[in-house]
Amino acid sequence: MTQDAIRIEGLRKTYGGTGRTPAKEALKGVDLTIPAGSVFGLLGPNGAGKSTLINIMAGLVVKTAGKVTIWGFDQDRNPRQSRAAIGVMPQELNLDPFFTPRGALEVQAGLYGVPKSQRRSDEILKMIGLEDKAEAYARTLSGGMRRRLLLGKALVHDPQVLVLDEPTAGVDIELRQMLWNNVRRLNRERGMTIILTTHYLEEAEEMCDEIAIINKGEVVARDSTDNLLNHLDARTMIIQPDGDAAQLPQAPGVEVVRREDGALALNYRSGQIAADDVLQAVRDAGIRIRDVRTEQADLEDVFLELTRSR
Ligand code: ADP
Ligand code: MG
Repeated sequence: MTQDAIRIEGLRKTYGGTGRTPAKEALKGVDLTIPAGSVFGLLGPNGAGKSTLINIMAGLVVKTAGKVTIWGFDQDRNPRQSRAAIGVMPQELNLDPFFTPRGALEVQAGLYGVPKSQRRSDEILKMIGLEDKAEAYARTLSGGMRRRLLLGKALVHDPQVLVLDEPTAGVDIELRQMLWNNVRRLNRERGMTIILTTHYLEEAEEMCDEIAIINKGEVVARDSTDNLLNHLDARTMIIQPDGDAAQLPQAPGVEVVRREDGALALNYRSGQIAADDVLQAVRDAGIRIRDVRTEQADLEDVFLELTRSR
């Protein structure tokens, strides 16, 4: 067992730049390590470079410079072993319309050199809920079924690292739940390292142990999900006054909003004013506090803060 599932050093990628296509620097020197056994989220706006990063790991895109190590194997020195350690569910639905789900899984297993005796097509079909579609042509499958089949294809060689590129973009809630249940189970029961990109911040918040935020080809933050959320010092204190609050609390750095239910929302930054001083301002306004709670910033705020004005 290695300690890092993925190690990326000084990774650069420039597309084009030959002939008439202008050069596009999609990755500008990315360093990133992803611990084995984790569920790791790669977040960033459209065009940030997430798919480029993933496709380089998968060996689908050739890097311009840098070093990629997968499960301890250098991608350049041990291409076969590093490729065997990773399975990728790509962003696009690139399925051959003439294969059946079972056929697609068998062909994929063949590509990865999995011997017939070790193939697990039935088990995978069951897991992705396509047993009764095993012999149907891919072109007759719904979009959701095709996505599930892509997940199945990523698993044929039983990789240590599973990478999912926007697996739930545009899919319905039911399929999203199913995908996440599968992914959770692979992580918990088999210890599979999961790397995913998503646009849904709540999803990353709920699913991921650690997160890297990537913007314009650079990693702008990388931390545990909890720490990323704690770093942000915007706080909201919700005060339920005992009776009417005739006078609103006043303190520098505190913005007060009266809510419809009579509660007062006090927005402040914990780096600017202590919670105790916020409470004191409430008492100074002659307000008796019946109930108090705080609202934390969420990942959306972190994301905006980190990608704004860059
Ligand atoms: P993301 O997945 O975060 O949306 P991508 O990795 O797909 O980002 O793209 C990063 C940047 O590289 C974008 O500006 C995109 O237009 C560009 N890009 C991606 N693939 C290609 C390609 N095959 N040729 C030229 N430019 C590309
Ligand atoms: Mg992408």
